[in-house]
Amino acid sequence: MDEFMTLRALITSAVKAQGGWVNAHAHADRAFTLNESTLEIYRTHSLERKWDAVDTMKRNSSEENYYRRFCQTIELMISQGATAMCSFVDIDPASGDRAIRAALRARERYQDQITVLYANQTLKGVINPEAREWFDRGAEMVDVIGALPKRDERDYGRGDEALDIVLGTAKAMGKMVHVHVDQFNHAREYETEQLCDKTLEHGMQHRVVAIHGISIAAHSKQYRLRLYEKMREAGVMMIACPMAWIDTPRSEFIAPSHNALTPIDELLPSGVPVALGTDNICDAMVPFCEGDLWRELSLLAAGCRYTDFDQIVRIATAYGKMALGLIDPIAVNTPENAANEEQYAHSAIL
Ligand SMILES: [Zn+2]
Repeated sequence: MDEFMTLRALITSAVKAQGGWVNAHAHADRAFTLNESTLEIYRTHSLERKWDAVDTMKRNSSEENYYRRFCQTIELMISQGATAMCSFVDIDPASGDRAIRAALRARERYQDQITVLYANQTLKGVINPEAREWFDRGAEMVDVIGALPKRDERDYGRGDEALDIVLGTAKAMGKMVHVHVDQFNHAREYETEQLCDKTLEHGMQHRVVAIHGISIAAHSKQYRLRLYEKMREAGVMMIACPMAWIDTPRSEFIAPSHNALTPIDELLPSGVPVALGTDNICDAMVPFCEGDLWRELSLLAAGCRYTDFDQIVRIATAYGKMALGLIDPIAVNTPENAANEEQYAHSAIL
């Protein structure tokens, strides 16, 4: 084995050899919007209150403001050697279609340098009639159907119905689905399991990706193992955005000892592909994230004490492409797909 100075040098050179970084989840429309008032929102608001607290910033943003944020985010990804990314875009009563129009222009500008996909964020849910109208309009304009079922569960107790609308729309349009789930690091959340059940019900296996899954690690080991089995059965992949949730507030609830991170040390050995995302960059939701892909990956690996370097490289590359639908989904641990996996993701770095 050759000597190497740092894990960063080892892993990033392998990422480059595998075709470059993939940022599988971001919110570029709200990136670089930090100022005194947005920082105040971060300091004083819970996540659920932030869903609406960013409305003023969104309403005050012109298409040109949005365009600048998309360009800045895309250039930041290109500068790090990213070759593909997916950003959510607010398409709702507060942002109208200004953000998505800007996003499409920005994508065109950088089309020779990076593959950019868009998903529609549903911060206002899909049950409220006005929000639903924007969801339907947005679904036509994006590559991936996005979702936040917690919004409709909290407002109306209709999270299941929201998932039916989202999955039904995606199936009819032949698009993949990315869903924010299990964000609050609490054993009262069962959203990843709910998403798997709905995926099976709608026959959308290998077309659905969960984002975050922080609460999984707050559950018992028996529950977690059953969940991983169900994720494999449903072909549900995961995107981890470590910086976004590492600031989960301390609580006095009893749970198995764990960090507020997507448990890649269990998901990957269980055969569930995990991709990497930056999530929000320098905004009211995640002011500390600067969109640094190595920082995200190293935080995730260190926090989960995960040292399978081939798999870590895949998190940043092949699994990201799978989550974006750029290569075929692969149930990584099944023998029949092992050959495909070799073809797509092999990296003999050690
Ligand atoms: Zn997100």
